[in-house]
Amino acid sequence: MVPENELGNFDRLDPIAAGLVTKPKPKQGIMDITPHKGGEATIEVEGVVQGRARIIELSANEGAMGPSPRAMAAYQAAATDLHRYPDIGAKDLRAGLAEIHDLDTAGIVVGNGSGEIINQLVHAFAGPGDEVVYSAHGFLMYPLAAMANGATPVKAPEENYTASVDALLSVVTPKTKLVFLANPNNPTGTYLPSSELRRLRAGLPDDVLFVIDSAYAEFIDHNDYTPGIDLVDGHDNVVMTRTFSKIHGLAALRIGWAFCPANIARAHDRTRGPFNVNAAAQAAGLAALWDFNHVDRARAHNIRWLNWLQNACVRLGLDYIPSVGNFLAIRFAGEDGLSADDAQKFLRTKGILSRRITAYGLPNHLRISVGLEDDNRTVMETLDEFLSIANVP
Ligand SMILES: *Cc1c(COP(=O)(O)O)cnc(C)c1O
Repeated sequence: MVPENELGNFDRLDPIAAGLVTKPKPKQGIMDITPHKGGEATIEVEGVVQGRARIIELSANEGAMGPSPRAMAAYQAAATDLHRYPDIGAKDLRAGLAEIHDLDTAGIVVGNGSGEIINQLVHAFAGPGDEVVYSAHGFLMYPLAAMANGATPVKAPEENYTASVDALLSVVTPKTKLVFLANPNNPTGTYLPSSELRRLRAGLPDDVLFVIDSAYAEFIDHNDYTPGIDLVDGHDNVVMTRTFSKIHGLAALRIGWAFCPANIARAHDRTRGPFNVNAAAQAAGLAALWDFNHVDRARAHNIRWLNWLQNACVRLGLDYIPSVGNFLAIRFAGEDGLSADDAQKFLRTKGILSRRITAYGLPNHLRISVGLEDDNRTVMETLDEFLSIANVP
């Protein structure tokens, strides 16, 4: 990568950059985007891992239980047909989703991860001069997708790290084209009950698209929670998005889906890449869907260990944002030696990867995913060690 100051010098000497020669220019907003940085996946510095054979990856909310064995078998079986184009309509996968969730297949769209669907929705419904609303600590894909399409992201304040229906409604203007709500939200892990989703929907003009991003829906076991299918039904302006990247443990394959009113599904179908979900992903996704046992085990594991992690934070005197997802945002003191940055570095020396969430407006928090039992115990033991060292003056 070219360091910024080098780029600056180069700019001054370059006749193209000086405007003497023209060159292709990205559309407005594109170069304002900070490229998405995923959770760190490897430790590259040699010798950094002290006495640990394996890296503990808790930085990207991936499913702790891994993929379903059935999904792995389907993926391998797809290898003999790699010379064939995928089914352009992802018929089997969409039919499976329709059957399991009791939905009309026509309303189901699939994407190269739900991230692609989010981007395609903004692409189809907003552009320069339009506004895209999301909440203050909301998932960053929404403002990035807005900017990639020349639209203006508009942030609504939160209360207690939780989206506020009143605040979201108060920033809606005639320019608003989409409102995004991750429920539960990443990286906070907080959610709005179905009654609040209904109130938000009721307060939005009919021509504003309300996107409920339920990436973590399968992990949740609360009576007042809805993934949002019931909110889409009978309304032309509500979409629910879902993913295979989290509970199904298929993040590498990039599969997302959405349940949409027919008018939205038709618009999506016109802007997506024709083969946006590849053949191996379609096959593995379908197999994962029907492996209820794997999903149930993953949910039970998450409920148990999320609870354990939260209790462990209490024991260590660490503040955290109560979560219903497969991750937890833990708060560190701002001071030198005890900051989220210090904690992340300390974990890193022990081979544990976590996620800073400064870009989400949470500079003092560190997000960790719920891992396997050994991972969870190790991360909390390591934080205990960090605090006892850092607290010695
Ligand atoms: C992880 C996540 C997604 C899923 O993204 P994919 O592109 O499907 O991997 C979507 N929304 C939120 C809020 C997430 O945290």
